[in-house]
Amino acid sequence: MVLSKDLLEILVCPQCKGEIVPDDNHDKLLCHACKLAYPVRDGIPVMLVDEALPFSRTPAQTAADRATR
Ligand SMILES: [Zn+2]
Repeated sequence: MVLSKDLLEILVCPQCKGEIVPDDNHDKLLCHACKLAYPVRDGIPVMLVDEALPFSRTPAQTAADRATR
């Protein structure tokens, strides 16, 4: 499942209105500011804070993020 770039560009985190990024499997959308992962169900992102799950960044993810910015 790959989310369209157009869709991702209009989606923002409902909590901080910041950028969200798909995770490696494109089955979650991550807000790194809030450390929340929004689920994607049947290809539809669920942009609800109540549905989001907190996540912790791994050192590998942090390194990858630095490399792309
Ligand atoms: Zn956020």
